[in-house]
Amino acid sequence: MPEVIRLDDVSRVFPTDPPVHALSKISLRVERGDYMAIVGPSGSGKSTLLNTLGLLDRPTSGSYLLDGVETTTLKDGDRTRLRGQKIGFVYQSFHLLPHRTVAENVMLAEIYGRGRRPGHGRRGRRRRAEEALAKVGMTHRIDFLPGRLSGGERQRVAIARALMGSPALLLCDEPTGNLDSKNTETVLDLFDGLHAQGLTIMVITHEDEVSSRAGRRVRISDGILTEE
Ligand code: ADP
Ligand code: MG
Repeated sequence: MPEVIRLDDVSRVFPTDPPVHALSKISLRVERGDYMAIVGPSGSGKSTLLNTLGLLDRPTSGSYLLDGVETTTLKDGDRTRLRGQKIGFVYQSFHLLPHRTVAENVMLAEIYGRGRRPGHGRRGRRRRAEEALAKVGMTHRIDFLPGRLSGGERQRVAIARALMGSPALLLCDEPTGNLDSKNTETVLDLFDGLHAQGLTIMVITHEDEVSSRAGRRVRISDGILTEE
């Protein structure tokens, strides 16, 4: 089986004046089942790296294999499809639709591409959402609107949405940035459980409490990556 992520000499230069070298010749291997944290100060290139890994941005040079597929030469449509099949995103601010229930928010993952699979039509969507919500311990809130949930519960719903379609990789950008310490703990416990089941998780964070839970930690500074 190929690594989930294989970056070789990936650079991203923003063509401003002067140009910004947001990523400088980054090489990285992430094996299936790795739980990795990326730390670094503001402006160091964390979001650029996450966007690159998530196929939302394209490197200026270098090679990026996702699950064995060279992504840098793919057409936009193929990149979008691959993203939908392989990657679940979790953001600091949850991004749940306020007028949709918990179940509907999770089901929307399939409508907007995440977890779209051959044979995954509308029938069975609710059941798949229920299964994803069971993984994060949120079935008891399935018909609630997000406004009635705590921050930690909202993030667990967002994680359930990201798990639809069994992605190869969970990419998380400051997933506990809006949570108090108790809810942070709940989300980190959940990541531990998902990691134990073999999910590959990559978390961007500036919180030691978060990065210390990951099995691997890499630091990015001025676009240069170093393993700790
Ligand atoms: P971080 O997420 O670690 O705060 P970013 O990846 O957002 O850092 O940014 C890395 C560097 O690239 C910063 O100097 C930032 O100003 C610059 N940058 C990010 N996006 C762009 C862009 N679209 N155009 C020009 N410069 C950018
Ligand atoms: Mg950022």
